[in-house]
Amino acid sequence: MKINIKRYNLTESIQTFEVSHDETILNSLIEVKTKIDNTLNFRCGCKTGVCGSCAIRVNGVERLACKTHLNDNDLIEPIKNTKVIRDLVVDLSHESKLLKNTKTYLHEKSSEKIETKDEKLIDIQSNCILCQSCFSSCPVYEVNEQFLGPYALTRALRYVNDKKESNISEVLSSVQNNGVWDCTLCGNCTVVCPQFIDPKTDIMNLRMKSVQEGFEDKSLQNFSGGFDTGFDPLGGFNPNGF
Ligand code: SF4
Ligand code: SF4
Repeated sequence: MKINIKRYNLTESIQTFEVSHDETILNSLIEVKTKIDNTLNFRCGCKTGVCGSCAIRVNGVERLACKTHLNDNDLIEPIKNTKVIRDLVVDLSHESKLLKNTKTYLHEKSSEKIETKDEKLIDIQSNCILCQSCFSSCPVYEVNEQFLGPYALTRALRYVNDKKESNISEVLSSVQNNGVWDCTLCGNCTVVCPQFIDPKTDIMNLRMKSVQEGFEDKSLQNFSGGFDTGFDPLGGFNPNGF
Protein backbone atom coordinates (compact mmCIF):
# COMPACT_ATOMS: atom_id res chain seq x y z
CA MET A 1 0.00 0.00 0.00
CA LYS A 2 1.32 3.46 -0.92
CA ILE A 3 1.21 6.57 1.24
CA ASN A 4 2.11 10.01 -0.18
CA ILE A 5 3.39 12.50 2.36
CA LYS A 6 3.94 16.19 1.82
CA ARG A 7 7.39 16.93 3.20
CA TYR A 8 8.69 20.34 4.16
CA ASN A 9 12.21 21.25 5.07
CA LEU A 10 12.81 24.71 3.60
CA THR A 11 11.34 23.42 0.33
CA GLU A 12 8.19 21.38 -0.30
CA SER A 13 7.98 17.98 -1.93
CA ILE A 14 5.68 14.95 -2.02
CA GLN A 15 7.33 11.68 -1.10
CA THR A 16 5.79 8.26 -1.65
CA PHE A 17 6.44 5.34 0.71
CA GLU A 18 5.39 1.70 0.54
CA VAL A 19 3.88 0.60 3.86
CA SER A 20 3.00 -2.89 4.92
CA HIS A 21 -0.45 -2.58 6.41
CA ASP A 22 -3.73 -0.77 5.95
CA GLU A 23 -4.29 0.22 9.55
CA THR A 24 -4.54 3.78 10.77
CA ILE A 25 -2.64 6.56 9.06
CA LEU A 26 -0.79 7.19 12.31
CA ASN A 27 0.48 3.59 12.35
CA SER A 28 1.66 4.04 8.77
CA LEU A 29 3.48 7.27 9.66
CA ILE A 30 5.13 5.46 12.57
CA GLU A 31 6.12 2.63 10.22
CA VAL A 32 7.71 5.09 7.81
CA LYS A 33 9.62 6.80 10.62
CA THR A 34 10.81 3.67 12.38
CA LYS A 35 11.57 1.47 9.35
CA ILE A 36 12.12 3.63 6.27
CA ASP A 37 12.98 7.28 6.95
CA ASN A 38 13.61 8.50 10.46
CA THR A 39 13.75 12.13 9.32
CA LEU A 40 9.95 12.22 8.93
CA ASN A 41 8.35 14.62 11.44
CA PHE A 42 4.79 14.43 12.73
CA ARG A 43 2.98 14.91 16.03
CA CYS A 44 1.11 12.31 18.03
CA GLY A 45 0.22 11.74 21.65
CA CYS A 46 -2.46 9.46 23.03
CA LYS A 47 -3.05 7.48 19.78
CA THR A 48 -6.71 7.11 20.77
CA GLY A 49 -8.36 10.33 19.53
CA VAL A 50 -8.25 12.09 22.89
CA CYS A 51 -5.29 14.51 22.72
CA GLY A 52 -5.98 15.97 19.25
CA SER A 53 -2.29 16.36 18.45
CA CYS A 54 -2.19 14.22 15.27
CA ALA A 55 -4.56 16.33 13.14
CA ILE A 56 -3.52 16.28 9.47
CA ARG A 57 -5.23 16.58 6.08
CA VAL A 58 -6.01 13.44 4.12
CA ASN A 59 -6.68 14.13 0.44
CA GLY A 60 -7.46 17.73 1.44
CA VAL A 61 -9.78 16.96 4.37
CA GLU A 62 -8.89 17.39 8.05
CA ARG A 63 -8.69 14.13 10.01
CA LEU A 64 -7.07 12.70 13.13
CA ALA A 65 -4.31 10.36 11.92
CA CYS A 66 -4.97 7.94 14.79
CA LYS A 67 -8.67 7.54 13.91
CA THR A 68 -8.44 7.35 10.11
CA HIS A 69 -7.76 4.24 8.03
CA LEU A 70 -5.21 4.50 5.26
CA ASN A 71 -6.41 3.95 1.70
CA ASP A 72 -3.96 3.20 -1.09
CA ASN A 73 -2.30 6.35 -2.45
CA ASP A 74 -3.74 8.73 0.15
CA LEU A 75 -2.08 12.15 0.21
CA ILE A 76 -1.16 13.27 3.74
CA GLU A 77 -0.54 16.97 4.34
CA PRO A 78 -0.18 19.26 7.37
CA ILE A 79 -3.23 21.22 8.54
CA LYS A 80 -3.77 24.60 6.85
CA ASN A 81 -3.89 28.25 7.92
CA THR A 82 -0.74 27.93 9.96
CA LYS A 83 3.02 27.93 9.42
CA VAL A 84 4.63 24.57 8.75
CA ILE A 85 7.69 23.94 10.91
CA ARG A 86 8.77 20.63 9.38
CA ASP A 87 6.82 18.01 7.38
CA LEU A 88 3.48 17.52 9.21
CA VAL A 89 4.43 19.58 12.29
CA VAL A 90 2.90 23.06 12.37
CA ASP A 91 3.31 26.14 14.57
CA LEU A 92 0.23 26.44 16.83
CA SER A 93 1.20 29.69 18.58
CA HIS A 94 -1.08 31.94 16.49
CA GLU A 95 -4.14 29.80 17.24
CA SER A 96 -3.31 29.83 20.96
CA LYS A 97 -3.13 33.62 20.82
CA LEU A 98 -6.54 33.80 19.12
CA LEU A 99 -8.00 31.63 21.87
CA LYS A 100 -6.50 33.94 24.51
CA ASN A 101 -8.14 36.93 22.75
CA THR A 102 -11.55 35.50 23.64
CA LYS A 103 -12.48 35.85 27.28
CA THR A 104 -13.49 32.24 27.54
CA TYR A 105 -13.25 31.71 31.27
CA LEU A 106 -15.45 32.33 34.28
CA HIS A 107 -15.81 36.07 35.07
CA GLU A 108 -18.41 36.38 37.83
CA LYS A 109 -19.54 33.28 39.60
CA SER A 110 -23.30 33.02 39.81
CA SER A 111 -24.97 31.73 42.96
CA GLU A 112 -27.56 29.80 40.93
CA LYS A 113 -27.99 26.14 41.75
CA ILE A 114 -26.53 23.99 38.96
CA GLU A 115 -28.60 21.01 37.90
CA THR A 116 -27.75 18.10 35.58
CA LYS A 117 -29.74 19.67 32.73
CA ASP A 118 -27.57 22.80 33.04
CA GLU A 119 -24.39 20.74 32.73
CA LYS A 120 -25.79 19.16 29.57
CA LEU A 121 -26.01 22.62 27.99
CA ILE A 122 -22.21 22.88 27.91
CA ASP A 123 -21.37 19.20 27.58
CA ILE A 124 -20.69 18.98 23.85
CA GLN A 125 -18.55 22.15 23.60
CA SER A 126 -16.54 20.98 26.61
CA ASN A 127 -15.49 17.93 24.57
CA CYS A 128 -13.27 20.02 22.28
CA ILE A 129 -9.80 18.47 22.10
CA LEU A 130 -8.21 21.56 20.47
CA CYS A 131 -7.13 19.51 17.47
CA GLN A 132 -7.39 22.62 15.23
CA SER A 133 -9.08 20.69 12.41
CA CYS A 134 -11.87 23.27 12.26
CA PHE A 135 -9.32 26.09 12.23
CA SER A 136 -7.58 24.45 9.26
CA SER A 137 -10.82 24.03 7.29
CA CYS A 138 -12.01 27.63 7.74
CA PRO A 139 -11.93 29.79 4.57
CA VAL A 140 -12.03 33.09 6.50
CA TYR A 141 -8.29 32.85 7.25
CA GLU A 142 -7.55 33.41 3.58
CA VAL A 143 -8.71 37.02 4.05
CA ASN A 144 -8.46 37.63 7.81
CA GLU A 145 -5.85 35.88 9.91
CA GLN A 146 -7.13 37.64 13.05
CA PHE A 147 -10.49 35.81 12.83
CA LEU A 148 -11.03 34.23 16.24
CA GLY A 149 -12.07 31.00 14.57
CA PRO A 150 -14.46 28.14 15.12
CA TYR A 151 -12.98 26.46 18.20
CA ALA A 152 -12.54 29.75 20.08
CA LEU A 153 -16.13 30.72 19.26
CA THR A 154 -17.46 27.31 20.22
CA ARG A 155 -15.64 27.71 23.53
CA ALA A 156 -17.20 31.17 23.95
CA LEU A 157 -20.67 29.66 23.63
CA ARG A 158 -19.74 27.12 26.28
CA TYR A 159 -19.13 29.99 28.75
CA VAL A 160 -22.18 31.96 27.60
CA ASN A 161 -24.34 28.89 28.31
CA ASP A 162 -22.60 28.11 31.59
CA LYS A 163 -25.05 28.74 34.45
CA LYS A 164 -22.05 29.39 36.73
CA GLU A 165 -21.31 32.57 34.73
CA SER A 166 -23.34 35.64 35.64
CA ASN A 167 -21.57 38.08 33.30
CA ILE A 168 -22.11 36.66 29.81
CA SER A 169 -21.84 40.15 28.34
CA GLU A 170 -18.10 40.10 29.08
CA VAL A 171 -17.65 36.89 27.09
CA LEU A 172 -19.86 38.13 24.24
CA SER A 173 -18.01 41.45 24.01
CA SER A 174 -14.77 39.55 23.33
CA VAL A 175 -16.18 37.84 20.23
CA GLN A 176 -17.67 40.83 18.41
CA ASN A 177 -14.54 41.98 16.52
CA ASN A 178 -13.05 39.37 14.16
CA GLY A 179 -15.56 36.97 15.66
CA VAL A 180 -19.19 35.95 15.30
CA TRP A 181 -20.02 38.37 12.49
CA ASP A 182 -17.02 37.43 10.35
CA CYS A 183 -17.99 33.77 9.90
CA THR A 184 -19.41 32.90 6.46
CA LEU A 185 -21.48 30.02 7.93
CA CYS A 186 -19.97 27.67 5.34
CA GLY A 187 -20.12 24.72 7.77
CA ASN A 188 -16.65 23.29 6.95
CA CYS A 189 -15.74 23.32 10.64
CA THR A 190 -18.78 21.25 11.56
CA VAL A 191 -18.03 18.64 8.90
CA VAL A 192 -14.44 18.02 10.04
CA CYS A 193 -14.84 18.06 13.83
CA PRO A 194 -13.88 14.60 15.20
CA GLN A 195 -15.81 15.33 18.41
CA PHE A 196 -19.10 15.99 16.58
CA ILE A 197 -19.14 19.57 17.83
CA ASP A 198 -21.07 21.93 15.54
CA PRO A 199 -19.18 25.26 15.57
CA LYS A 200 -21.35 26.69 12.77
CA THR A 201 -24.53 26.30 14.84
CA ASP A 202 -22.67 27.51 17.93
CA ILE A 203 -21.69 30.67 16.06
CA MET A 204 -25.31 31.22 14.97
CA ASN A 205 -26.36 30.84 18.62
CA LEU A 206 -23.66 33.30 19.68
CA ARG A 207 -25.04 35.81 17.15
CA MET A 208 -28.51 35.40 18.60
CA LYS A 209 -27.22 35.79 22.18
CA SER A 210 -25.19 38.83 21.06
CA VAL A 211 -28.28 40.53 19.65
CA GLN A 212 -30.21 39.71 22.83
CA GLU A 213 -27.43 41.39 24.86
CA GLY A 214 -27.51 44.53 22.68
CA PHE A 215 -24.55 43.79 20.37
CA GLU A 216 -24.88 44.04 16.60
CA ASP A 217 -22.96 43.48 13.42
CA LYS A 218 -21.16 46.84 13.07
CA SER A 219 -20.48 46.30 9.36
CA LEU A 220 -24.24 46.61 8.72
CA GLN A 221 -24.62 49.97 10.48
CA ASN A 222 -23.63 52.12 7.47
CA PHE A 223 -25.21 49.72 5.01
CA SER A 224 -28.74 49.98 6.45
CA GLY A 225 -28.91 53.77 6.49
CA GLY A 226 -31.12 53.59 9.54
CA PHE A 227 -33.66 51.17 8.04
CA ASP A 228 -34.32 47.65 9.20
CA THR A 229 -32.38 45.57 6.65
CA GLY A 230 -34.14 42.33 7.42
CA PHE A 231 -30.81 40.89 8.53
CA ASP A 232 -31.26 37.62 10.33
CA PRO A 233 -28.50 36.90 12.89
CA LEU A 234 -28.95 33.21 12.14
CA GLY A 235 -27.46 33.78 8.70
CA GLY A 236 -30.61 33.84 6.59
CA PHE A 237 -32.49 36.79 5.16
CA ASN A 238 -35.91 37.79 6.37
CA PRO A 239 -37.77 39.76 3.68
CA ASN A 240 -40.44 40.67 6.24
CA GLY A 241 -37.84 42.79 7.98
CA PHE A 242 -38.56 45.64 5.61
S1 SF4 B 1 -18.77 28.01 9.46
FE1 SF4 B 1 -17.63 29.91 9.95
S2 SF4 B 1 -16.08 29.30 11.44
FE2 SF4 B 1 -16.85 27.41 10.44
S3 SF4 B 1 -15.41 27.05 8.77
FE3 SF4 B 1 -17.13 28.21 7.92
S4 SF4 B 1 -16.50 30.36 8.07
FE4 SF4 B 1 -15.11 29.19 9.41
S1 SF4 C 1 -14.15 22.16 17.75
FE1 SF4 C 1 -13.76 20.06 17.01
S2 SF4 C 1 -12.40 20.35 15.21
FE2 SF4 C 1 -12.37 22.26 16.39
S3 SF4 C 1 -10.59 22.08 17.75
FE3 SF4 C 1 -12.39 21.36 18.91
S4 SF4 C 1 -12.43 19.15 18.56
FE4 SF4 C 1 -11.08 19.99 17.00
